[in-house]
Amino acid sequence: MNFQPRASHFIDGEYVEDANGAALEVIYPATGEVIARLHSATPAIIDKALNSAKNAQAAWAALSGTERGRILRRASDIMRERNYDLSVLETHDTGKPIQETTVADATSGADALEYFGGLAASLTGEHIPLGGGDFVYTIREALGVCVGIGAWNYPTQIACWKGAPALACGNTMVFKPSETTPLSALKVAEILVEAGAPKGVYNVIQGYGDVGASLVTDPRVAKVSLTGSVPTGRKVYAAAADGMKHVTMELGGKSPMIVFEDADIENAVSGAILGNFYSSGQVCSNGTRVFVQKGIKEAFLKRLSERLVNAKIGDPMDEDVSFGPMVSKNQMNIALSYIEKGKAEGARLIIGGERIDRDGYYLQPTVFADVTDNMTIAREEIFGPVMSVLDFETEEEVMTRANDTEFGLAAGVFTNDLTRAHRIVAGFEAGTCYINTYNLAPVEAPFGGSKMSGVGRENSKLAINHFSEMKTVYVSMNDVEAPY
Ligand code: NAD
Repeated sequence: MNFQPRASHFIDGEYVEDANGAALEVIYPATGEVIARLHSATPAIIDKALNSAKNAQAAWAALSGTERGRILRRASDIMRERNYDLSVLETHDTGKPIQETTVADATSGADALEYFGGLAASLTGEHIPLGGGDFVYTIREALGVCVGIGAWNYPTQIACWKGAPALACGNTMVFKPSETTPLSALKVAEILVEAGAPKGVYNVIQGYGDVGASLVTDPRVAKVSLTGSVPTGRKVYAAAADGMKHVTMELGGKSPMIVFEDADIENAVSGAILGNFYSSGQVCSNGTRVFVQKGIKEAFLKRLSERLVNAKIGDPMDEDVSFGPMVSKNQMNIALSYIEKGKAEGARLIIGGERIDRDGYYLQPTVFADVTDNMTIAREEIFGPVMSVLDFETEEEVMTRANDTEFGLAAGVFTNDLTRAHRIVAGFEAGTCYINTYNLAPVEAPFGGSKMSGVGRENSKLAINHFSEMKTVYVSMNDVEAPY
């Protein structure tokens, strides 16, 4: 299969190339082969994309919500029809098993296009009656040109989670995918045009961090939505603040998952497996600090080890494979360096811990037990298949320890005690919490972080507030009284 796109960028409804941009190679993580060669955006490309988005915005916002929504829903249908081909592309872009990409990537992108397409017609302001017949009405307005900047773990999903609500509200978008996984967003742009989106409504340009930085500071841009790490989020948020731009920051995490003695152990082990090893551990909301109550610790570790040997590691295009490579050599080396730190700081390696001897960037699913709160592997985001299991005795103790982190993306609890479950989630300092499950992110539910994990929410009706603003109109039905 040929993964080379017609050109690097998609601007004003068509593919565009500028070979003066820095080389950008796309590597298939399962083999290390180069599968496409692109170019990072030059200043001329950045300018062209922003102008295109700026020029298209007023006419797009002037359509009725019903018309905009119809286009988004048509794009959703096309994505579902092409799910298999898009999943093959996503697997080559990211290395994630086809078993995952066929159910979690284009499908979740399609969900977002469908959901926000459905909402578009009902985005309104309100009428506020005042005394004496006066009243206020509010008009929900688009922000203008929005910039989306993506991480590499869910490229199609991120392109749609940002694009769909932005477009539903009447904004236009310039989206910059991660330089590691640049291919799928181009397909999203193509599909939107095919579905009837006017030229310039959704543009994609490639590039490294410097291209993202140029977009964030450009005066034509009204809003920036970033999915990435906390260090990048700090820089982007600060740069956006200088221009008083709206932001959504979807950043990293080191989320706790608490397993009480009364929990269903099989479910808790399943949650820990999904919350640490799905997508080879490259999921922002992963529950990488698994706190297990002392009485069930050995039983939990035993079942975890027994089940992990059933992970089918191999060619991600094989439909039976459930665990693929990491996205890049660099990311694999980062995870390996954390494994070394875990060993050096005295954590007990239960399973895994090694690179797998085959082409590509494969790392074994790895579990450390006897991890303590101050170990590096318990404090820093690894973004790889490395689980830390920590012991605890009481609810009070584990609550304090679970929240003792700068991050606040997600948190989960496994228990059969109903009141305790709700007490625990009430105490969690995290944006997205789970009771007796982990890592689900349906488009109907708000998703996002607190503390250093981010600002704003994606998905759900709340995302609309992050892609629109209210104009207040005061209407007087009375004479104007002036003191002189
Ligand atoms: P990253 O921060 O290195 O890069 C993210 C994006 O920002 C890339 O497109 C990159 O080119 C761009 N970028 C880098 N420097 C920039 C700058 N100065 N200005 C503007 N753009 C810049 O992150 P990554 O390694 O691609 O992704 C992994 C991180 O993303 C992890 O921390 C993970 O937790 C996080 N993540 C968060 C969510 C979420 O929804 N909260 C989802 C997925 C990933």
